[in-house]
Amino acid sequence: MDKKEVYRVMDEAADVIWGLSDAIWEVPETAFRETKSAALQCEALKKLGFEVTENLAGIPTAFSGRWGSGKPVIGILGEFDALAGLSQKACSAVKEPLIAGGNGHGCGHNLLGAGSMAAAYGIKQYLESTGKEGTVIYFGCPGEEGGSGKAFMARDGVFAELDFALTWHPMDYTCAWYESSLANYQVNYKFKGISSHAAAAPHLGRSALDAVELMNIGVQFLREHVIPEVRMHYAITNTGGFSPNVVQSEAEVLYLIRAPKTPIVQETYERVNDIARGAALMTGTQVEISFIKACSNFVVNDTLTDWVQANMEETSLPQLTGDELKFAAAIQDSLEKKSDPLAPMLRLMTNEEAKKVREKVTGPVLNFVIPRIHANSVLPGSTDVGDVSWVCPTAQMTAAAWAAGTPAHSWQAVSQGKGSIAHKELLYAGKVLAGTAIDMIEHPEQIAKAKEELAERLDHKPFVSPIPKEVKPKAIGM
Ligand SMILES: [Zn+2]
Ligand SMILES: [Zn+2]
Repeated sequence: MDKKEVYRVMDEAADVIWGLSDAIWEVPETAFRETKSAALQCEALKKLGFEVTENLAGIPTAFSGRWGSGKPVIGILGEFDALAGLSQKACSAVKEPLIAGGNGHGCGHNLLGAGSMAAAYGIKQYLESTGKEGTVIYFGCPGEEGGSGKAFMARDGVFAELDFALTWHPMDYTCAWYESSLANYQVNYKFKGISSHAAAAPHLGRSALDAVELMNIGVQFLREHVIPEVRMHYAITNTGGFSPNVVQSEAEVLYLIRAPKTPIVQETYERVNDIARGAALMTGTQVEISFIKACSNFVVNDTLTDWVQANMEETSLPQLTGDELKFAAAIQDSLEKKSDPLAPMLRLMTNEEAKKVREKVTGPVLNFVIPRIHANSVLPGSTDVGDVSWVCPTAQMTAAAWAAGTPAHSWQAVSQGKGSIAHKELLYAGKVLAGTAIDMIEHPEQIAKAKEELAERLDHKPFVSPIPKEVKPKAIGM
C-alpha cells in the first residue's frame, strides 16, 4: 500500500470517523468529566482494530489504542473535551443554544480527536499491508481546556516510548505549526478570614474578599516589572457570598500565569505568591496556595514539521461545494467582531510572500496551505502538546474547519463543528498526519535527525515536568 491507497482506505472509513466526531459533538463534556466521549472513542478504536488501554496516568478518561510492534513508535494525539456555556445548535448561522448555559465544542476537539484517529487508522493500515516494523499509538488525551491532561500524562511517563508525535487543531486556516507557545501555571489562592456584621461589628471581621482585591491590585502593579510576553489573568471563583452586610470570611481567585519559558513562569509564580501573602498580611487573613496544573512551552521541531508541511502541500485539499461556502459566508456575517486570521502569520513574512498569500484568498474559507513560516516567534497562547514536545520530536498543523475569522471558543465554532466543511477538513488533517508518519517510517534517518534537533533545542537536558509529583488532575468549576 502506498500513501494514495492509504488515503483511499481512510476515505472508506470516513463514515465511522465522522460518526464518531458527531457523536462526541452531541455529548459535550468539560475537562476530566469526559466519560461518555472517552467511551465513544474507545469503542471506535476497538472497531478499527486497536488494542485499548484505559486509565492512563491514573486519569479515568485518558486512554490509548495501540497497533503493531517494534520501532518506530509513533504517537498520534487526540482530544475530545468541550467548553462550558457554549451550547449551540449545529449548522446554524444564528446564536441558538441547545441547552441554556450548556456545554459546547467551541474548540473543535470532537474534530481533533476523530481526525487524529483517522491518521492512526491510516498508519495502521499501512503497517499491516506492508508488513513493515512499527507501532502506532493513538492517545486519547482528556482535559486540554484548563486541565492540561497531556502535561500530567507526560509527567507520568506515558509518552516516554515514543520516537515522535503528531497532532493537529481545527482552525480557520491551514498551516504547519512553526511557532512556540507559552508555558503556564494555573494556581488557586484561597483566603480565609473572619465573618462579622458589616455595620454593627466590622472591627471584628477580617475580609477574605478584601484580600482577593488587594492581591489583584498587587498583580496589576507587577505587570510593569515583568517581560512583555508574560501574561497574568484571573477569575474570582468565590466572592464569599452575595450579602454585602457580611464581612466575607472566605474568597478565592484562580490565576493563570504564562510566559515563553517554564523557568520564567516559575519566577513570576513566586512573585505572585509573595503578593498573595502580602494581601493576607494586610487584611489579617490566611492564604492557601494550591497548584492546579501547568504546561510547558511548545518546542518546535523543524525537521519533523518540514515533513508535515510537505505532506500538506502534496495531499489534495477538500473540495467545497457552493452550499458549504454559502454557509461559511453566513457564519462570517454573524461574527460580532471581524478579524483577519492571516494577519499574525503574514506579519512573519516578507511583503512579497504576504502578497502571494493574500492572492489565494478567494472566498469565506481559507482552503489553501500557508507557505512555510520562517520565524522564531511565540504564539500568545498555551497548549499541553508543549509537554509532549519536550519528550519526543512533535509536530502539529491546523486545518481550516471554520469560516475565516471564526474565533475559537465561540458559538460559531460550535455550530460549524458538525458541518460538512469540518468533516472534510478533519479527514484532510488525518491524511497529512498519516502521510507524514509513513514518510518517517520510510526515512528512519529523519527520525534520528529530529531527535538530535530536539536534544539541541533542550541543551541536552532531560524533560522535567513543571507539575509537582503530588498534584492530581482536577476538574475546575461547575
Ligand atoms: Zn481551546
Ligand atoms: Zn483546542
